[in-house]
Amino acid sequence: MGTGFRIVLYTADEPTARTAIDAVWARIDALNQTLSDYDRKSELSRVCQLTNDGPMREPVAISDDFYRVLARSLEVSEASGGAFDVTIGPCVRLWRRARDMHQLPTPERLAAARAAVGYQFVKLDPSRHTVQLMAAHMRLDVGAIAKGYAAQEAFDVLKDHGISRALVGAAGDIYAGDPPPGRDGWQLGFEAPGKSGTNTGVYVRVRNCAVSTSGDTYRFAEVEGQRYSHIIDPATGIGLTTRTGVSVIAPDGMTSDSFGTAMSILGPARSIALADQTPGVAAMVTSFDSSGTPKVEMSARFAKYLVNGITLPADTTLEVN
Ligand code: ADP
Ligand code: MG
Repeated sequence: MGTGFRIVLYTADEPTARTAIDAVWARIDALNQTLSDYDRKSELSRVCQLTNDGPMREPVAISDDFYRVLARSLEVSEASGGAFDVTIGPCVRLWRRARDMHQLPTPERLAAARAAVGYQFVKLDPSRHTVQLMAAHMRLDVGAIAKGYAAQEAFDVLKDHGISRALVGAAGDIYAGDPPPGRDGWQLGFEAPGKSGTNTGVYVRVRNCAVSTSGDTYRFAEVEGQRYSHIIDPATGIGLTTRTGVSVIAPDGMTSDSFGTAMSILGPARSIALADQTPGVAAMVTSFDSSGTPKVEMSARFAKYLVNGITLPADTTLEVN
């Protein structure tokens, strides 16, 4: 998954905890072997390789995990007007190259990559559990949905072992189960976008839901003094240059993770609207004006999770919609 996992759990006996945690690591390993785009032998990579000579001529059967992640990805693409796109892989490769060489892709390379991007090229058959990729050189990238899925799946493994008072964190993607003993939720705080190790003063209390944060604090490419986020706008094929930070609360991990990425692209107004129209989804979006002053906007549902109101830095504007 390219990330560390952190688990907090409460149980009466240690052997149960150890067995459960071993099972969690096994589950995460299995997911990695299915979904990694770095591992050329993963199921995901092998399916993409079937487009090396052109569109796939026929559908292939895929595993449950792969199918579920792809099916939800396509739904989120529809819901976000294409901002989230699981076929973004060719552009992600160009971004990695730009990051390493400090050079933007040539227009020719960018055009070639973009020709292989488009969620409408992914055909799923729910009755047969098959996928068919309908363009050449396609590369799927589940980097904006699989960590949320893995956090949720890890929690489900704990639950199967009788442990429901637990929290699983995969970097910016968290699944919070039943609260710690004597508490009514898990209290979570948020870093200010772009400022690792800081504290925004925003705390939420949650239980049995997923919380994800997206932004360019940790991963960006720098070319000629310009920052390009690892979140790529499918409309341009290149990384976002607008600074933003998005946190999403949702009923499940795939939704919080993928919506965080989609909303980073959509900007505050469309993100708040998307949160409001999606059952169980809450969002907080931080944007910056030209002088770098942050503005925090929350959906009404997000404000309901807040612990003790908010203390934001003096120069920050806050809007609860
Ligand atoms: P993080 O990895 O910091 O949690 P995200 O959850 O937002 O951040 O996922 C970003 C990753 O998702 C990128 O590194 C890339 O692999 C992939 N990605 C980038 N842009 C998009 C997009 N528009 N739609 C879907 N996935 C994307
Ligand atoms: Mg994410």
